[in-house]
Amino acid sequence: MLKFLDLQTINAQYRDELVEVCTRVIDSGWYILGKEVTEFEREFAECCGTKYAIGVANGLDALTLVLRAWKELGYLNDGDEVIVPANTYIASILSITENNLVPVLLEPNEQTYNLNAVNVEKAITSKTKIILPVHLYGLISPMVELCDIAKKHNLLILEDCAQAHGAEILGKKAGNWGDAAGFSFYPGKNLGALGDGGAITTNNEELANTLLALRNYGSHRKYENEFKGVNSRLDEIQAAMLRVKLKYLESETAIRRKIATRYSNEIKNNRISLPIWDDIENHVFHLFVVRTEERDRFSEYLLENEIQTVIHYPTPPHKQNAYSELKDIGLPLTERIHNEVLSLPIDPTLTDEDISYIIEKINGYE
Ligand SMILES: *Cc1c(COP(=O)(O)O)cnc(C)c1O
Repeated sequence: MLKFLDLQTINAQYRDELVEVCTRVIDSGWYILGKEVTEFEREFAECCGTKYAIGVANGLDALTLVLRAWKELGYLNDGDEVIVPANTYIASILSITENNLVPVLLEPNEQTYNLNAVNVEKAITSKTKIILPVHLYGLISPMVELCDIAKKHNLLILEDCAQAHGAEILGKKAGNWGDAAGFSFYPGKNLGALGDGGAITTNNEELANTLLALRNYGSHRKYENEFKGVNSRLDEIQAAMLRVKLKYLESETAIRRKIATRYSNEIKNNRISLPIWDDIENHVFHLFVVRTEERDRFSEYLLENEIQTVIHYPTPPHKQNAYSELKDIGLPLTERIHNEVLSLPIDPTLTDEDISYIIEKINGYE
């Protein structure tokens, strides 16, 4: 079986180094907020081109804590509106409602699956305070246009970079366009820990300092609490392993781009629509998502041929029981996307022969 994503094989490539750094942390006797986290934060900020990176427990907390910090700093109040794509993973929406803010779900651009600047500008009201672009599947959103709109209407931008480590436009990385960004290091993400992990990037010192406290009980100094904070820390073992994985992010991204380019050039089947992008640097191919009206039949055919696929995502957030209050807003495009998308294997350990086999089987589907 060609697996959709084979984490065992991916991490086996780095096993010796991972074991070595785990041993280093075990032997150090220091397990929370130490040297590994500080060094990872420095290295990750450098990788994104930002002044600050703040390690947190996971990607959902990264997004939630930025919004929380903006409330603490007086930029946001309960009931303010956050513009977000309707077809995102539910975590983007959870970060909004957790802060008593109102998600304004927008239909995406049908070609890119990302926010569309024209829809965003139309959705702005007197309550709008934030644009939350999600760089879905690894393709960076139209940040030049979104930053112009934010500036014109005095809005803040929080980028959801959970799927887009290293994507860029005009040489500027995802996570460095908005006022802040949330990253996830869930094991299956392009930069994956061996457990949960996340980070926030920003160039704003006041925000960075507030976040350093919020992630640690609202405290800058032990036993002095400025905010009603949370415990959302990246731990030393995960930070140490992320430092190893970060060294290989670029080479793994290059392989993902190579696989995606082959799929794009060599898949020729008019029942299947392929993703599009302008510039290869814009996309880091967390997922390679194709579309077809006959998704179930197509995925069963691939499975019969020993090719595993996954749906990202089967149900949009507004159709989840958790958001029953949103179930009647009409989002026909989003619903159609969720019925048609299918993610092909894009594991960086797949061989050229594996990819040729997948392409041959897709071209033979009728
Ligand atoms: C994975 C993901 C998150 C959440 O990250 P976790 O680390 O799993 O909490 C948020 N947004 C998007 C788009 C994601 O894909």
